[in-house]
Amino acid sequence: MDLPNSLYSFAVVVNAFIVKYDMMQELSLEEIRTKAFQFHENNTVWHFHILTPKCKFNKKSLYAFVLEGEDGAQRFIHYSKLPPNDLGKELAPLAHKSKVLDQKTTDVDYIPSETIKKIIDRARELNQQSIEWHHHVTFPGCQFNTNNSRFTLIFEDPETGDTIENASEKEPINDLKQIEPLFYSQTKI
Ligand SMILES: [Zn+2]
Ligand SMILES: [Zn+2]
Repeated sequence: MDLPNSLYSFAVVVNAFIVKYDMMQELSLEEIRTKAFQFHENNTVWHFHILTPKCKFNKKSLYAFVLEGEDGAQRFIHYSKLPPNDLGKELAPLAHKSKVLDQKTTDVDYIPSETIKKIIDRARELNQQSIEWHHHVTFPGCQFNTNNSRFTLIFEDPETGDTIENASEKEPINDLKQIEPLFYSQTKI
């Protein structure tokens, strides 16, 4: 089959994504917690994701906690009926090496981009309506990152199905300090 180059590249990327996703090992939440602390103690690069049942990266209609270590070379997943937000809250400051749940620690000269402002406004609106939403930060090497050398903050709008994305060269710590407290203050999650 003679595919145009761009289509062929797209097919390769999609295929790589599927292969990577299928490689995730299922563990209990406690085992994932232990692994995350091991990564932290060994100074291994790691991060995690909470996937809601509506998440575009989720294959099941359950919540999922995804842990990735060593630039995505190690990947673990745990599915649950209830949102795994307690572990998320515990691990978020470790994963980002910063007090991302504390808006008061935002840099004084921080000015959010227009895209980030849009995410914050929409998150507040959804919280007021008690509509569950979530976001991701894809790190370099992350299986969900299509922008591989950069960090991307992805907000998924549960009502429209749209995503709002903000890519940055540095980890978006100040942005997270606005968004993470909103995420964990949701009544449903
Ligand atoms: Zn998602
Ligand atoms: Zn990831």
